[in-house]
Amino acid sequence: RPRFSNILIKINEEAADFYHRVLVSTNAGKRGLEYAQSRDLNNEIINHFRIGYAPKQDNLLLTYLRGHNYQDEDLLNTGLFVQSQAGELFDRFRDRLMFPLCNEGDYVVGFSGRRLSTDKTEAKYINSPETKIFTKSKTLFHFAEAKKAARSEKHLILYEGYMDVIAAYKAGIKSGIASMGTSLTDQQIYMLRRITNNIIINYDGDDPGIHAEERAAKMFNQVGGFNLGIVVLPEKLDPDEYVKKYGIEKYQDEIKGALTPTDFFLKRLAQKYNLANDREKLAYLDEATKEIAQLSNPVEQDLYLNKVAKEQSVSIDSLKVNLTKYRRQQN
Ligand code: ATP
Ligand code: MN
Ligand code: MN
Ligand code: MN
Repeated sequence: RPRFSNILIKINEEAADFYHRVLVSTNAGKRGLEYAQSRDLNNEIINHFRIGYAPKQDNLLLTYLRGHNYQDEDLLNTGLFVQSQAGELFDRFRDRLMFPLCNEGDYVVGFSGRRLSTDKTEAKYINSPETKIFTKSKTLFHFAEAKKAARSEKHLILYEGYMDVIAAYKAGIKSGIASMGTSLTDQQIYMLRRITNNIIINYDGDDPGIHAEERAAKMFNQVGGFNLGIVVLPEKLDPDEYVKKYGIEKYQDEIKGALTPTDFFLKRLAQKYNLANDREKLAYLDEATKEIAQLSNPVEQDLYLNKVAKEQSVSIDSLKVNLTKYRRQQN
């Protein structure tokens, strides 16, 4: 075990070990283990992600860490505890499945805890607060591991949730990462760019997920230099649900079938119009051509013009006339 120069990291690491042991080898952890099993988390997954369980009973972590001679001030600064008006400390996480959140060096800097119950009045996930060692906007779940995998897999795949990264891992895709339940930040994009230009975005297939993909794609484009693929899963499924319903192979096919940003945008655009109506169809063709005009690569332009022309049964020549017009407007 390395020796940690940073006391806050040291405590978070101890807490991760504690929660993990509670989950895999105690009576108090049975509830957590049953939940983990209901989510198809096997031993290998539980170990790889160092998943744990914060027991239901009050202050077990506090008692444990005090027993290891940590000072209350340091404990408080980890964000693992909340302080009452009277100054008493309490465990922040109770009766939750615990996902350690790690820094680039793969050391634990915080946690996300999922409620076990279906009680919707409780937050589904609770995260550690921001601390000296944990900044959400600069943290990506599973980043240290995914970086290594990116060398052989040649890409990173961006997910919405922790359970999606884990589902991908089960499907043999080890290059999955996720932001902290907050929307993607520029800092995170720069973290990714240092590793690879090939990014696949695979958020949930529901409306918020698809909107977030559109937003993320725009952000990647702004930063520039990326080769983006976008996956839209059917039936509003998220990757975890998809793997559960359709299996690993089908999921791998979805990844292979990732859309280019232009394809993604054109598909989204087409859904906004009633293409059986000529007036709307013309408006769609106009918007689509505008989008294609923004592409800098003429071969790409040709590809998508052809596609749209074919799909809408118009001639590519007429679209090209419009395209030239829009290109001129841009200059
Ligand atoms: P699960 O499969 O466990 O239900 P999920 O990842 O599918 O979780 P979503 O509702 O799709 O959950 O949310 C995506 C991500 O957003 C979560 O993984 C989590 O990081 C974050 N998140 C969701 N709900 C909350 C919440 N109440 N507070 C903080 N973060 C949340
Ligand atoms: Mn979602
Ligand atoms: Mn989801
Ligand atoms: Mn899910």
